Amino acid sequence: MKYGIQNPKSKIRIPSPPKKTAPALFCLLLIAFLGSCMQGEEKIYKKSKIMMDTVVTITVVSHSENRAEHAINSAFSEIRRLEELFDFYSLDSDVSRINKHAGLYPVTVSHDTLNVLERAYFVSDKTGGAFDVTSGSLLALYDFSRGIKPQPYSIEKRLPFVNYKAVHIDRKDPGVFLEKAGMLIDLGGIVKGYAADRAVETLKKDGIRSGLVAVAGDIRAFGLKPNGKPWKIGIKNPRAEGKDDDIMATLDLRDLAISTSGDYERFFILEGERYHHIISPATGYPVRTCRSVSIIAGEGVLADAFATGVFVLGPEKGINLIEKMGFSGLIIDQEGAVHVTSDIREKIEFEKTFTGHNKG
Ligand code: ADP
Ligand code: MG
Repeated sequence: MKYGIQNPKSKIRIPSPPKKTAPALFCLLLIAFLGSCMQGEEKIYKKSKIMMDTVVTITVVSHSENRAEHAINSAFSEIRRLEELFDFYSLDSDVSRINKHAGLYPVTVSHDTLNVLERAYFVSDKTGGAFDVTSGSLLALYDFSRGIKPQPYSIEKRLPFVNYKAVHIDRKDPGVFLEKAGMLIDLGGIVKGYAADRAVETLKKDGIRSGLVAVAGDIRAFGLKPNGKPWKIGIKNPRAEGKDDDIMATLDLRDLAISTSGDYERFFILEGERYHHIISPATGYPVRTCRSVSIIAGEGVLADAFATGVFVLGPEKGINLIEKMGFSGLIIDQEGAVHVTSDIREKIEFEKTFTGHNKG
């Protein structure tokens, strides 16, 4: 019998009539409600560590302290892993191996190193070479902690080893090759932003839906605070004289990255001149057009590298490029004047203690 009335003794279960779904639904809702009560309310958890030669602070929103701690620790481990790959000084980092084999043969490196080098090439291209990781051979001549500047002839001799186009990246092998012996790459201007990106991905994989990763001035935010508001970021005053004027401005950041490059992070003053760690790849000397550059972009890796590159380009060219790239930005020039892209003019709140002029 294919169709017809079912045998009442058949073992086939007849679905319950619809009226019985109401209590079941009630039970489910009750379980969900009790579950959310047991999770506890959302709180902000924060931890800092010294990594990548600076202070790294990771902040997350979570219902559970244990889960927050676990996620933060995984993100720190990810940053530690990247630190080992990109370290200019450690002997077996990807960067050291690439540098040691310059002019000899290609070196197999991790995917992270390939990612960073490809992004670096992109930024070099867009900034007309103002951002150039092959500035490494020039940077190695400076000693910022001991206040030593290079002799002009040493700079002259190394300028021919600076050329981002002489970095060959092969995804298939995968290998990286520096064309000339003597070339050195230094990824200091891009890796902190990349590390912030990777740390955020790690937090998200661990189920965190809102947080903030700050690798010094390279910050990436995602989600909202427990009060439903975006994360508020402070931008450092490049000429702060005390604790009260340390922050010059604040702005809200949601699912974006902000990076600040400044002439106040690593520097020394010699014969009245400030020698700082952002140099022009064309001249080999620290650039004197800006005090600080902050860039807001979707990814930390781009915000970081463009902040360094725009610093070299200076305020006028810099603001034009930031706008052309579809980013937002704020530049404090050498006279202390503030330049901002039009889209964030209304969104930045300047502190009363900040005496920069031409705001807006
Ligand atoms: P910070 O390290 O203070 O966050 P940056 O992101 O601007 O600031 O990085 C500065 C570092 O970038 C320097 O210490 C050096 O390693 C590297 N660097 C300096 N000048 C250049 C340049 N023109 N292009 C690429 N990297 C640079
Ligand atoms: Mg940078």
